[in-house]
Amino acid sequence: MKFVLVIAVVLVAVWIWRNNRQNERSDAPGPAPRRPASPAPMVACDHCAMHLPQDEAVRGQRGVYCCHEHRRQAEEAAG
Ligand SMILES: [Zn+2]
Repeated sequence: MKFVLVIAVVLVAVWIWRNNRQNERSDAPGPAPRRPASPAPMVACDHCAMHLPQDEAVRGQRGVYCCHEHRRQAEEAAG
């Protein structure tokens, strides 16, 4: 009868241990789900029509350009 009691205690101990492990796993802050980087708004150069991120665009009086050179050329061509 003592043997059965020991087995029961071991089984309970294992059960508690496994429950704890599962809790740890669910509580553990896993790698944060990566959010897909929001797509940067794209604009087209008004001179050469090249697409580029809005952040990198050069703003001119008549539109946006891929570089200062194209802004200058476009504004010279427009007069
Ligand atoms: Zn351009």
